[in-house]
Amino acid sequence: MIDLRSDTVTRPSPAMYRAMATAEVGDDVFGDDPTVRELEETTADMLGFESGLYVTSGTQSNFTAVLTHCGRGEEYIIGEAYHVYRAEAVGSAALGGIIPQTVPVLEDGSVDLDLVEARIKPEDLHFPRTRLICLENTHNGKALAPEYMERAVALARRRGLAIHLDGARLMNAALATGCAPRDLARGFDTVSLCLSKGLGAPVGSVLVGSRDFINEARRARKMLGGGMRQAGLIAACGLVALREQVERLEEDHRLAARLASGLAQVPEVGTEPQGANTNMVFITVPDRHRQPVVEHMKRHGVLIGGRPPTFRLVVHRDIGEDDITATVDAFAGYFRNAA
Ligand SMILES: *Cc1c(COP(=O)(O)O)cnc(C)c1O
Repeated sequence: MIDLRSDTVTRPSPAMYRAMATAEVGDDVFGDDPTVRELEETTADMLGFESGLYVTSGTQSNFTAVLTHCGRGEEYIIGEAYHVYRAEAVGSAALGGIIPQTVPVLEDGSVDLDLVEARIKPEDLHFPRTRLICLENTHNGKALAPEYMERAVALARRRGLAIHLDGARLMNAALATGCAPRDLARGFDTVSLCLSKGLGAPVGSVLVGSRDFINEARRARKMLGGGMRQAGLIAACGLVALREQVERLEEDHRLAARLASGLAQVPEVGTEPQGANTNMVFITVPDRHRQPVVEHMKRHGVLIGGRPPTFRLVVHRDIGEDDITATVDAFAGYFRNAA
């Protein structure tokens, strides 16, 4: 199957299996796992931070960060379409008593920083205390530029707030903007990076921040049930991902651009005016065709997903040039025959 539902569907590479077979491990809750420590240090170093914390998922990473930044009855400001608010079952509110204050997400994936500033609560006993701003890069495959990230950081500093970056796909953003990852992360208090998306590791994310923050976050991770033991086994795959899979993301971006331009030629397929510039393609089809298209594509060996009214097609390591051709052909075939 050509699985375009997500970049989380990749299987471990042969190098990852080899790394697992030979990984040195220990009890990570005791701080004894050398492979986990190496992964945490390597990630922190790549992103320009003092420390890192290996966690089970991006959701756990973001939740650990928000729980450590904010206390009960406090709030964070976040784009309403960002993953931390929209796709993590609002764990911060449900389990942490921390309130999200949302703002709309703009066409380019950013949030209006003037609006963010306007939403910061003044010191008043009627209001929750605003503690944190949460951004996301990439959002829906769109990379935010370093100048924007700097302005957001400057706002947080000026208003005495912390700022967290959900950088699940930060490596994609870095390649798309021609920046080093640390240039997009500069000034943030914390950054979460997913190893299990385009980087292709089977499990895990790393949260980075200052030494003190990460020590506190380690406690939150334990509370959330994220204290793992011989986790070096899977952390070994994360190290392979960081060392061998980052530059390869360019290939995903190239193929996604090819997919987007191919699909733009298919009548009845709508593409975004300001489309994603990394490894994702968002398209729409007339509503009556939605379900038949899914079934047609599946019969032609292509799995697609996304929330109505859009389809999201995601390119990743297990997708090649021929798969892109086959996908465009299958879409074109459907609409050639559709009434
Ligand atoms: C996937 C993703 C996450 C969460 O990662 P999981 O490992 O699925 O919990 C967080 N933020 C963004 C932007 C993501 O794409």
